[in-house]
Amino acid sequence: MIYLKSESEIDKMRESALLVSRTLAEVGKHIEPGIETGKLDRIAEEYIARYNGRPAFKGYGPAGNEFPATLCISVNEEVVHGIPGDRKLEEGDIVSVDCGVEKNGYFGDHAYTFAVGECDEKTLKLLRTTLESLYQGIEQAIHGNRIGDIAHAVQTHCEEEGFGVVRELVGHGIGKSMHEDPSVPNFGRKGRGERLRTGMTLAIEPMITMDSWKTKTLNDGWTVVTADGSLAAHYEHDIVVREGKAEILSTFDYIAELSTKNNNIIYYG
Ligand code: MG
Ligand code: MG
Repeated sequence: MIYLKSESEIDKMRESALLVSRTLAEVGKHIEPGIETGKLDRIAEEYIARYNGRPAFKGYGPAGNEFPATLCISVNEEVVHGIPGDRKLEEGDIVSVDCGVEKNGYFGDHAYTFAVGECDEKTLKLLRTTLESLYQGIEQAIHGNRIGDIAHAVQTHCEEEGFGVVRELVGHGIGKSMHEDPSVPNFGRKGRGERLRTGMTLAIEPMITMDSWKTKTLNDGWTVVTADGSLAAHYEHDIVVREGKAEILSTFDYIAELSTKNNNIIYYG
């Protein structure tokens, strides 16, 4: 069941999405070699509470193995759903930070992959390409197009650059629930899938690998890693389908403002 949102609902979703955007930038300020991922998680949890949001990931999932943290922090070969803890970031790592917030009954869910200190050129190309593919997917998220148009745009751009497109995990509708219909895969064919309509709200989130797209889940039941141990990047925006041009509810602008201090922040948009 796909729920089309009214403008007043979209206003609330924008507020939730922007709280996530500001949280990601707050976390980004502290990303440097030596910091523990658990420390980043505490920074995010405090920040969200200060702005009267609720961390949406904490407690999410199956009874007995609920996700234990505010952020999913996925380092290097971890694709998504990494659990923050005592791991220390190292120079040259890449770290994907995914954050979900619920505020006033509506959800925001968005993610950014940071470079830690200096990364090699091939790694930076993976980040750049993944981010570009996100925006190319968003360009297709207009009234009258289909889900497959988004999927095809993401897949084509990443594969042309020689990267892998994760199949097992996909984007999704978002609104009063964090995950709503429809699914938004990052691979597929033009002109296929659900018809996009004004007022549909989607989380578009390419998960792209340096080599093979195959993944596996670790014994913690959460952390998804590349099967071959190669690096993975993940960027996510929340958008509203509109006539002619999608509206992006979330933003990387706050992260871009950090780039005067960290020249490895990749910005596009
Ligand atoms: Mg997410
Ligand atoms: Mg998501």
